[in-house]
Amino acid sequence: MARIGFVGLGNMGGPMARNLAKAGHAVAVFDIVPDLVARCVEVGATAAVSAAETARGAEVVITMLPAGQHVRDAWLGAGGMAGVSAETAILVDCSTIDVATAREVAAGCGRPFLDAPVSGGVMGAENATLTFMVGGPDSAFHCVEGILKQMGRAAIHCGEAGAGQAAKACNNMVLAATMAATCEAFVLAEKLGLSHQALFEVMSKSSGQSWSLTTYCPVPGPVPGSPANRDYAPGFAASLMLKDLGLAAEAAAQTGAATPMGRQALDLYRRFVEQGGGGTDFSGLIRMLRGTG
Ligand code: NAD
Repeated sequence: MARIGFVGLGNMGGPMARNLAKAGHAVAVFDIVPDLVARCVEVGATAAVSAAETARGAEVVITMLPAGQHVRDAWLGAGGMAGVSAETAILVDCSTIDVATAREVAAGCGRPFLDAPVSGGVMGAENATLTFMVGGPDSAFHCVEGILKQMGRAAIHCGEAGAGQAAKACNNMVLAATMAATCEAFVLAEKLGLSHQALFEVMSKSSGQSWSLTTYCPVPGPVPGSPANRDYAPGFAASLMLKDLGLAAEAAAQTGAATPMGRQALDLYRRFVEQGGGGTDFSGLIRMLRGTG
């Protein structure tokens, strides 16, 4: 069992840290919201008084924070976690942030550092079924792979620093574009008098098939567990999708990659969020496309 520091105990980090404590690790936790710390202490974690204190003496230190600035400040800011951690500690950031900041923090920490963003959402965090996409040194990845798999079902080493964030940006750009296209297909089918079920039956067995259709179908009925069946309660909120599309667009601009579909998806999700859809599941985009919400 390992000594683990964990900072950022929100919707994702809270259940992730609790899964590590339940697995028997000695987990020191910190969040600026005391109630979130208390929920982890209930299952055996230890409360730390600061982010830096979680890192002192830990073998593995993990952050799960909102955005790049929080991650940079936590690791590299005055009294930051990198400086107080043991030289042999392995540092892991699971937040979704931009590739450039991930590389900057990795270079500035002076310790083995992994960017390890996740896919799978809050349910995945609670049920320990997340997928980790990891960038950084091979040796560090192999040291923490077992710990990551106690919070998820897969951990994929994608390459050097920033490769995990790069994979996350690419994956979610495709997810947004396939969801938008799938929503459009159902709206067009409605106009043509084709039933949802008939279109689902055909597309799920044809070349229009995708995860957005068969796991996360944006109309109620064909896939009973999808957010469409509960009035588009998230799931994966449209505001988070907009954040991820912004990170993909930033990466595309910095590298000169042509991503016109990603840009189009960004514009659609920005409009949806501006119209009040930010707290809705991202498959709720279909309502905006129908002109009904
Ligand atoms: P959240 O806002 O629920 O949690 C973030 C936590 O960080 C909060 O509890 C906040 O109090 C804490 N925090 C902020 N600054 C801090 C500091 N300086 N020190 C200590 N704690 C601090 O967000 P979340 O939904 O848990 O998402 C976390 C990360 O995971 C984000 O980068 C997000 O993009 C990514 N992500 C989220 C989902 C999802 O479905 N929610 C899915 C995949 C990835």
